[in-house]
Amino acid sequence: AQAEIGLIGLGVMGSNLALNIAEKGNTIAVFNRTAARTREFYEEAGDLKGQVVPCETIEEFVAAIRPPRPIIIMIQAGAAVDQQMDLLRPHLEANDIMIDAGNANFRDTMRRFDALKDSGLTFIGMGVSGGEEGARHGPSIMVGGTEESWKRVEKVLTSIAAKYNGDPCVAWLGENGAGHFVKTIHNGIEYADMQMIAEIYGILRDGLKMSAAEIGAVFGEWNRGRLESYLIEITEKVLAAADPITGKPMVDMILDKAGQKGTGKWSAIEAQNMGVPATGIEAAVAARSISAVKGEREAAEKILGLPDVPALQIADRAAFVKDLENALLAGKIGAYAQGFAVMSAASKEFGWNLPMPTIAKIWRAGCIIRSQFLDEITSAFTKAPDAANLIVTPAFAAMVKETDGALRRVVSTAALHGLPAPALASALGYFDSYRRARGTANVIQAQRDFFGAHGFDRVDGADSHHGPWGSGLNG
Ligand code: NDP
Repeated sequence: AQAEIGLIGLGVMGSNLALNIAEKGNTIAVFNRTAARTREFYEEAGDLKGQVVPCETIEEFVAAIRPPRPIIIMIQAGAAVDQQMDLLRPHLEANDIMIDAGNANFRDTMRRFDALKDSGLTFIGMGVSGGEEGARHGPSIMVGGTEESWKRVEKVLTSIAAKYNGDPCVAWLGENGAGHFVKTIHNGIEYADMQMIAEIYGILRDGLKMSAAEIGAVFGEWNRGRLESYLIEITEKVLAAADPITGKPMVDMILDKAGQKGTGKWSAIEAQNMGVPATGIEAAVAARSISAVKGEREAAEKILGLPDVPALQIADRAAFVKDLENALLAGKIGAYAQGFAVMSAASKEFGWNLPMPTIAKIWRAGCIIRSQFLDEITSAFTKAPDAANLIVTPAFAAMVKETDGALRRVVSTAALHGLPAPALASALGYFDSYRRARGTANVIQAQRDFFGAHGFDRVDGADSHHGPWGSGLNG
């Protein structure tokens, strides 16, 4: 019998995904640029060998798959994908489907989708989240492509996806770039989540002078409450781990320079392109960039010193820790509200009709930002599909009102004691601006009219669009 699906790229993600596919009872043909890796992988497959067809040439690989052939390409994102597609293309037949499952920029996905449009071949851009472990045992999968091509792969993908209370964490989200766009925003939200956790860690470490183990215990406690999530869970674990070389807490031995591969930055750029505020994601991307200039920071601390502020004294530590928990929840609400607002704008901009409750649903398990909290988002968007913003849905409006006092106290305490909390502060600024009907942009408009005669609208609707500053004042 022919393989149900094919996969190219037996790296970390590809090999785990292939084993997952095989384990769920599907026969899979596999190919890797370097054939030695294909042989090695076949040996690693162990009991699953019967479900794996290892191929060392593209011809053999294509012939092994049942048409119309779905072929997952799980290789380094970027030019490698175009090269691989060019090599594969001459061997394919009408209705075969090339599926890019790497972390592609959705604009590349749109280009690849369009390039194949009249060729008879189709293209799926598929976001896969959950890292190595997710790929092996159940990732969250975000699919973009034609509905017809989705139908061909639905069964296999449903079999390998993570399950949340039995619901598979995979969905067809729309045409062309929809899946990769949603994966990008998933990662942008992940950046914000991680940054806010790191800021809280900083307040506990540098403000309350707590040890890594003590801070880990706080996260462990939170993981049994409303913040329950994979990222809080792993934060507890990383804070508890010891360095095998020195025996010190592992985190204390790790250089404070964060890497980034681009999805956070793309989220922020696309948000800016559409004029949607995504301040939590922007703050998180900027924080990674500041972290990266370690040498400059060391030099700056010598020149400027740390802020000349009193040390943090907390009389009621339990109450303060409760505030930190609620502040993190509030910050999280801000970041998710912004991420969903970006997707909502993109849905209109690119004509995707993105299903918001479904997106929250397929993020509940398998992916890096998985949490209980996403179930509440699904529920809020199901009840109010046309809500302008998550924070004005009844459930989330109530949560904002309940937690923003804690966010305010934490952000102001951090500021008064010189502890950086840019992402948490951005959430507070977002809430305070978004909920205020009369803002301050009247002054911006007046300034723009003064120096550039850009005009303004009046609150009384009168048909007069310029101020009394005129050329005399301007000159
Ligand atoms: P790895 O570095 O482990 O593997 C890279 C794979 O790409 C290898 O099989 C390599 O083949 C192949 N490759 C590289 N260049 C080419 C090329 N020009 N032509 C053909 N094949 C090529 O990568 P990962 O598995 O970590 O990542 C794969 C994709 O998945 C990336 O887009 C990544 O962003 C994404 N991703 C990764 C996650 C993770 O947690 N690691 C999570 C979610 C998505 P060879 O053996 O011949 O070198």
